[in-house]
Amino acid sequence: MSAPREDSRAAVAAELLKWIGQHDPDGSGWFLDEGAPAVSEQVPAPPAEAAAPAAGTAAPTAPATPGKSPEPAAPAAPAAPATPVTAPADDDPFAAECAAFADRALKAIADRRAEQKTMCDLGLADADATGALSGPAPDDPVAALDALRAEVLPCTACGLHATRTNTVFGAGSPRADLMIIGEAPGRDEDLQGEPFVGRSGQLLTKILAAIGLAREEVYIGNILKCRPPDNRDPLPPEVLACEPHLRRQLAIIRPRVICCLGRVAAQTLLRTSTSLSRMRGDVHFYQDIPVMVTYHPAYLLRNPAAKRDTWNDVRKLRALMDKLIS
Ligand code: SF4
Repeated sequence: MSAPREDSRAAVAAELLKWIGQHDPDGSGWFLDEGAPAVSEQVPAPPAEAAAPAAGTAAPTAPATPGKSPEPAAPAAPAAPATPVTAPADDDPFAAECAAFADRALKAIADRRAEQKTMCDLGLADADATGALSGPAPDDPVAALDALRAEVLPCTACGLHATRTNTVFGAGSPRADLMIIGEAPGRDEDLQGEPFVGRSGQLLTKILAAIGLAREEVYIGNILKCRPPDNRDPLPPEVLACEPHLRRQLAIIRPRVICCLGRVAAQTLLRTSTSLSRMRGDVHFYQDIPVMVTYHPAYLLRNPAAKRDTWNDVRKLRALMDKLIS
């Protein structure tokens, strides 16, 4: 057999293996293997301490339109290793797209905050009411978050308290640069009192690891802290009742960027009915915090082909984080 034919078969075999990896329902290893070209440069880990961003305020946008991403039942997620990811090679065209996106996003963030400042200066907006990042940072975010947790756990502000097993407050670093926000606890989360602990939680851990983040260095929470019965969609009064908890979490953690997982979380947080596919790949805002949007891991478990899009989304997210941190 000629060498070119062997090369060709090897290339086909490699492509086939890649395809199989991408369609593995557990997403096993794909986020680490795919899109991490073999170069030695490491993506720098974000610093533990988040500096305060520029002040500003903003009113949330239009009314919420909830929907739902059912969570498959599953075993608990393992603790995440802080797996570094290799940086994209110079000849990786998507790396240039990520860099361009991050530059555009930085400009959008600066414009947004300048606009908010003008609105506040003119008395047309209330900085304290609408800007999670505009108030003073807590001296001790760990203690502040612990105190808030103790306050929220027994919450009875909406009817979901009657059917919950546990309130799922959130988990992760009180100084996280990235806050992951889902829609509401599922069955496993309700039972364990922790967010994203099922199979989708395991996949989320892999997605984070693929961009060089351990679960412990981000903060993971939900819009609702209690499970809606049968994983039904959050109701607007429940979102309204629970949102103050989220705002107070954000004011303590002060993440540089939020990543919404799934259509319902994105539409509810951003108060829009825009489709997830139209929201992906762009920067949005919750108060004065930039928000990016991608698929819910539970959706990826059912639709593995969407992992490619998610990988692209989180690479852009990482590029923006790196710009915001540097
Ligand atoms: S969902 Fe939120 S507002 Fe409703 S009871 Fe739970 S913590 Fe309170």
